[in-house]
Amino acid sequence: MSRDPRYDILFEPVKIGPVTARNRFFQVPHCNGMGHQHPQGHAAMRGMKAEGGWAVVSTEECEIHPSGDVTPYVEARIWDDHDIPYLSMMTEAVHRHGSLAAIELVHNGPSASNLYSREVPIGPIHQPTSYYPFQARAMDREDIRNYRRWHRDAALRAKKAGFDIIYVYAGHDLSLPMHFLQKRRNQRIDEYGGSLENRVRLFRETIEEAKAAVGDTCGIAVRFAVDEMMGDDGISSEGEAKDIVAMLAELPDLWDVNVSNWKYDSQTSRFAEEGYQEPFTAFVKKLTTKPVVGVGRYTSPDRMVSLIRKGMLDMIGAARPSIADPYLPKKIEEGRVEDIRECIGCNICITGDYTITPIRCTQNPTMGEEWRKGWHPEIMPAKASQDRVLIVGGGPAGLEAARALGLRGYEVALAEAGTELGGRVNQESRLPGLSAWGRVRDYRLGQIAKMNQVETYLDSRMGVAEILEQGFERVVLATGSTWRKDGVGRSHPFPIPGLGEVAVFSPSDIMAGRLPEKGPVLVYDDDLFYLAGVLAERLVKAGLEVIYVTPGDTASSWTANTLEVIFINKRLRELGVRVITAHDLAGIKAGEAQLVSAYGDPAQYVAVGAVVPVTARLPEEALYHELMAQPEALKDAGIKSVTRIGDCLAPGLIAYAVYAGHRYARELDAADLGEVKFRRALPLVTTP
Ligand code: ADP
Ligand code: SF4
Repeated sequence: MSRDPRYDILFEPVKIGPVTARNRFFQVPHCNGMGHQHPQGHAAMRGMKAEGGWAVVSTEECEIHPSGDVTPYVEARIWDDHDIPYLSMMTEAVHRHGSLAAIELVHNGPSASNLYSREVPIGPIHQPTSYYPFQARAMDREDIRNYRRWHRDAALRAKKAGFDIIYVYAGHDLSLPMHFLQKRRNQRIDEYGGSLENRVRLFRETIEEAKAAVGDTCGIAVRFAVDEMMGDDGISSEGEAKDIVAMLAELPDLWDVNVSNWKYDSQTSRFAEEGYQEPFTAFVKKLTTKPVVGVGRYTSPDRMVSLIRKGMLDMIGAARPSIADPYLPKKIEEGRVEDIRECIGCNICITGDYTITPIRCTQNPTMGEEWRKGWHPEIMPAKASQDRVLIVGGGPAGLEAARALGLRGYEVALAEAGTELGGRVNQESRLPGLSAWGRVRDYRLGQIAKMNQVETYLDSRMGVAEILEQGFERVVLATGSTWRKDGVGRSHPFPIPGLGEVAVFSPSDIMAGRLPEKGPVLVYDDDLFYLAGVLAERLVKAGLEVIYVTPGDTASSWTANTLEVIFINKRLRELGVRVITAHDLAGIKAGEAQLVSAYGDPAQYVAVGAVVPVTARLPEEALYHELMAQPEALKDAGIKSVTRIGDCLAPGLIAYAVYAGHRYARELDAADLGEVKFRRALPLVTTP
């Protein structure tokens, strides 16, 4: 197929100083939990973006000096020449596919921990570090000179490592040029503080010096957060950001602009629509002739075209859309827009950075596995046998297994008991704000629909007899899980006493629209992630009074890892939900819930009309055990294997179910990889 001419504009080259991007697709810096610790994995992941058509592929933030060490977070590092070979692996991988490699140089000043280097953190003035119980010291003039030298040296090293674009970074409340810009962090009385011109000085010098050092062959980009969402207390698009862009307008070769801090920049689909940054970044192009890049979880090519045509952006920046689909540009180029695996805006990718583990993605199970498992997002090995596969259950695990097996060429039948495919994704995407999650289902249904070798059957509950009758060589059980209603979970090894005295509704009941008739409804969140908070929102929107109780110190505490925790807590309060944290639901008696404090406060008693325990799930595994109890019958039916995947094996995230389905398809008829199923980057041990 060929490209729709409407999208031609997206494939025009863009000049960035001395280098030229082959199209308008720009993978902006994004964290990935691999960084300097997993250099092969990092290089392969970035190379895949280039292969998929992103004309510019950037590193995440790259520390330039041990005094800006962000340990325990694992980012890129360019402290000295030893780092060059590792970073070169990435530039080579990117260049192999004709793309430009960018590096985001950063010194995090008072936002750094220096937990590894044990250097004293530095900043514009004496101030507490952002995340740790110690302070950064005020930089004197020599420190500033040193910082400028480190940045220049890092730019020279980056050039040696093969980078084509060098970023000067002033974003996310993280980097020294940003800290010097901010009134609240910079109250210096020398030429680097006070007036805006003085506060801009370090940013300007860093850009000028990078240009002087490497600007002959490298494009010099800036990443600048034009709004910190705190009005005049911070940089704002209505305030100082305009002046700053105007002052530096033609200095860099490219402006990459966004909002700050990270929770605003990478908002989930629950809290922000595609293009949510436009109102803040739109002004930048009016003030500069240099190319402007912006982000906003863009996955729609029509939207991208309109941004270029309206003169809002020159290049479409993307982190998450490029994670969910490294091949997004290529699919547009090849006229295969319907094949795009659209980001659902869930921020599971960001949990990798927060948990200091290699990135994973709900939509793209191959993300982070390019090197260690050799997985390609678009290509699967051909089938290695004529075995036919019966998949039972059409949730994310079953759907991904069917898609990936189909891609390998296996003959697949997918049987679903219900009247629609999608499993838990159907239920959850009907909750307030989660409709984009339906893309997990829609992408897979779209792909399966094109495959002759994959058949799907609805209204087809499979029991042992049906499975034996079918005579498929391989049986995959993706039957999902069921929410417990007895309160057993992390906090309660045994059922919560007295639950039987009130109406108890499971999360599935609420998602299916089976709601309590009267409140107050107590939502007990022992799960600690997103679901209980969304269910509370759903219940309030149905007109019910809701009390949310959690043993966690804050509502939906694990959503700190998806950058949502503050938004969720605010929303619950806006909705009028009574939020009770650090309390356990000890039991129900005479229509009252007994809530026990984690800190020894007197117990609280609240009247409740119904309870929704969000505690734990049980796998739907009865079918598996029934089948395994009949080895002879399986043999007679010609069944070689019965495998549980996804929630049916162990209830988990949607991302885990998709991954499990993909993994099953990859590993079918493949050689046994031994105990450790992936390659590891082991440090070289040398003896003196
Ligand atoms: P996962 O996240 O692991 O994919 P889900 O709970 O989303 O799990 O999906 C499981 C799906 O399996 C549901 O759509 C459910 O209707 C279906 N299912 C469960 N048991 C059977 C069965 N015996 N036969 C066919 N479909 C089943
Ligand atoms: Fe998008 Fe979620 Fe994948 Fe991140 S994990 S890229 S938010 S689909």
